[in-house]
Amino acid sequence: MAVYLITGTNRGIGLELVRQTLAAGHEVIATARDPQAVPALTELAASNPGLTLAALDLGDPDSFDALVGQLDGRPVDVLINNAGIYGPRDASFGKLSAEDWLTVFNIDTVAPVLLTQKLMPNLRQGADKRIAFMSSKMGSVADNGSGGSYIYRTAKSALNQAVKCLAIDLQPEQFIVLSLHPGWVRTDMGGPNGLIDTRTSAQGLLSVIQQARPVDSGAFIAYDNKRIPW
Ligand code: NDP
Repeated sequence: MAVYLITGTNRGIGLELVRQTLAAGHEVIATARDPQAVPALTELAASNPGLTLAALDLGDPDSFDALVGQLDGRPVDVLINNAGIYGPRDASFGKLSAEDWLTVFNIDTVAPVLLTQKLMPNLRQGADKRIAFMSSKMGSVADNGSGGSYIYRTAKSALNQAVKCLAIDLQPEQFIVLSLHPGWVRTDMGGPNGLIDTRTSAQGLLSVIQQARPVDSGAFIAYDNKRIPW
C-alpha cells in the first residue's frame, strides 16, 4: 500500500481520486484550501484513519512550507498535482489580459512544479517515486484544431514542457513523471456536457499512474491509457 498526496480534493476529479485511493487501501494526504470546511472530506476522514487532511493554496507559496512542515519528513510515494483553473471563459483574442493570463499560468504551471520541488525530500523517501500532473488535451499543440482558449491551452502546454524536463532530470533517481489528460469530465470545470463522470476518469487515471513503467516517464497519457500527441 502506498502514500498518495493529492491536490485540489474538495470537489471534482480530485475528490474522486481520494475516494478511490482510500477504497483501494492506500493512505492519502488530501489537500484543499480549507479542508476542514469541506464536509465530503471531513466525513471521509472520520471513517478512514488513513486519510490526512492538509491545507494548501496553490496561490500562496507560504502554504507549501506549512504543508512540508505538517508532513514532518513523512514519505510520499505518489504525488498527484490535480488542482487547476481554467480562467475567464470569455477570454478570447481581443479580450485577453496579462493579469488573467498570469493568474492561470501561476496556478496551472508554476505552482505544481514549485510544489513538487518543495516535496522532493518526501518523494525521495517514497518507494513508488511517481509524480503525476493533471494536464489537458487542450494543452496539446498537435490536437489544437479549433483555436481559442489561449490562457488555459498555453498554461497546460507549458506544464507539459515542465513535465518533460522533470522526467529527464529525475530519471537517474528512477522517478516516473507523467502528464495526464483526465478526459472531458462532468465537473464544475468540465460542465454538464462532459463525456465521462469523475468515477470513470479517476479509475482510469489511477490505473495509468500505477501501471506506468520507467519507459513511460515523460509521456502525455489520457485516462484511457491512450497517448496524446504533444
Ligand atoms: P474543478 O473545477 O471541479 O476542480 C478544480 C480543483 O482545483 C478544486 O478542488 C479547486 O479548489 C482546486 N484549485 C483551484 N485553484 C486552487 C488553488 N489556488 N489552490 C488550491 N486548489 C485550487 O475541476 P476538475 O476536477 O474538472 O479538474 C481537475 C484537473 O483536471 C484540473 O487540473 C483541470 O485543468 C484538469 N482537466 C479537467 C478536465 C475536465 O473535463 N473536467 C479536462 C482536462 C483537464 P477550490 O474549490 O478551492 O477552487
